[in-house]
Amino acid sequence: MSTTTAHALQVLNPIDGQLIASLPGDDRESVDKVAAGLRDAQVAWCDTDPRDRARWMRLWRDWILAHTEELTDLLQAETGKVRPDALVETTVSCEFITYYADHAEEFLADEKIKSAGLLSLPKRLSTSYHPYPVVGLITPWNFPITLFLMDAAPALAAGCAVLAKSSEETPLTCARVVEGWTEIGAPPVLAHVVGSGATGAAVVDAVDYVQFTGSTATGRAVAVRCAELLKPVSLELGGKDPAIVLEDADLARAVEGIAWGGLFNAGQVCISVERVYVVADIYDEFVERLIKRVQSLTQGAAAGDDVGAMVTTRQVDIADRHVTEAVAAGARVAAGGTRGASGNYYAPTVLVDVTHEMACMTEETFGPTIPVMRVADEDEAVRLANDSVYGLSATVWTRDHARAQRIARRLEAGAVNINDVFSNLFASALPHSGWKVSGIGARLGGAYGMRKYCRVQALTQPRIPVLARELTWYPYTSRRTAIAGTVLRAVAGRGLRQRLGLSKEKCK
Ligand code: NAD
Repeated sequence: MSTTTAHALQVLNPIDGQLIASLPGDDRESVDKVAAGLRDAQVAWCDTDPRDRARWMRLWRDWILAHTEELTDLLQAETGKVRPDALVETTVSCEFITYYADHAEEFLADEKIKSAGLLSLPKRLSTSYHPYPVVGLITPWNFPITLFLMDAAPALAAGCAVLAKSSEETPLTCARVVEGWTEIGAPPVLAHVVGSGATGAAVVDAVDYVQFTGSTATGRAVAVRCAELLKPVSLELGGKDPAIVLEDADLARAVEGIAWGGLFNAGQVCISVERVYVVADIYDEFVERLIKRVQSLTQGAAAGDDVGAMVTTRQVDIADRHVTEAVAAGARVAAGGTRGASGNYYAPTVLVDVTHEMACMTEETFGPTIPVMRVADEDEAVRLANDSVYGLSATVWTRDHARAQRIARRLEAGAVNINDVFSNLFASALPHSGWKVSGIGARLGGAYGMRKYCRVQALTQPRIPVLARELTWYPYTSRRTAIAGTVLRAVAGRGLRQRLGLSKEKCK
């Protein structure tokens, strides 16, 4: 949680509002200066062998793991996360570093390309990857480390310099992880700047490629600016992820998965379960079990607590409004539904008797609420799941694997987890992308996640370099034109008659 004064950004603990740190913010001039330093340093970094870059990255990972306790404490202080939720960030996220360090050489290797037709047959074709000099990473407050490392790792491994701007609400842990890069003595190709939207806007202007993670509204503004500058941008934005529970689901697993998928990190996950459609046959039993599970959870900051605080009071207000409006329109709170007595707490909540039009089912809540709606059958569930401006991810719960696969293909979402939640996010070989207003482009996805930070160069070279000139070059004499016409027709045509110009077929 943060407030800004004329001179500094004040970071407050969401649990008790205590001041944790006061930091000077970076204005446009300071961002430009940092970006210029990165740009200079990147020249040598880009020329470094990918195996040497990988070595620095592994040392950085080791530093992060050696500082897990310190980083997790700091993360908890600035976000209000419970310990297990914070630990995922400071440990498991290192997997992104390992993955891209291990694969950098392979993913960046030049590729020989097969000829695509007769015209390119006499040429040698290949592609090579050239990193963007400076990549800007603009991140939100819900996962200050994970969302940074997911993109910093492939960009650094690709040979880019990285300028990170974490959320003004939670700048401390990311800044410390970036300090770790300096502490291991790595080249100065990674830097962190502090500030709010204006600092983010300066980063957009200063870098060569923008990787933005945040709300759809801000993502749209960033995209507009990038369009003006003709600057490549990748956007990972908001979501309203549906869960579909079918009559043949393993109910015990579905309840556990949906409870965790809706409440992990106090529901502040872009791909958290935000609405649940349960077919009528099992609705009552599912709801009864879900209520029991949610009521059993404890909330607070003590060891063993399940659900933590929310990062901002603004976000608590949104969760509260969604619940209050739903109740006013006829929904029932079956668990939770109240703000905490102090701190940014909102009780883990189950809402039933909701309808599809309510804000809790259409707008991103980003809080610990699970609205559940009864549907007639699979078709109604899929129709309602797709009736959203968002398309980030979805979950499907059924024992019938063929049916699950079929439903997944009908869902308009960048990822579908079958009988599972969040798995796609930690599978570096899979792309993480939002459809519709949930984003443009993708992150991770094996080689794609690294090559997106590169410009691709196409290379051609004649296989037989002895010819003084090609058939299609000057001079355009009648004889050469006639030969070229015959050859080009033979190349473009299909079937012997068409290639030889004997075909009498008319255009339809
Ligand atoms: P936000 O859009 O308010 O802010 C995100 C970042 O953008 C912050 O660092 C902010 O300072 C910066 N910013 C603000 N204005 C800017 C501008 N004009 N130019 C450049 N940068 C600017 O989002 P938030 O409230 O911090 O995060 C919550 C949102 O993030 C939710 O909608 C959530 O779904 C989304 N999110 C998406 C993903 C994903 O991978 N799709 C992951 C996590 C969070």
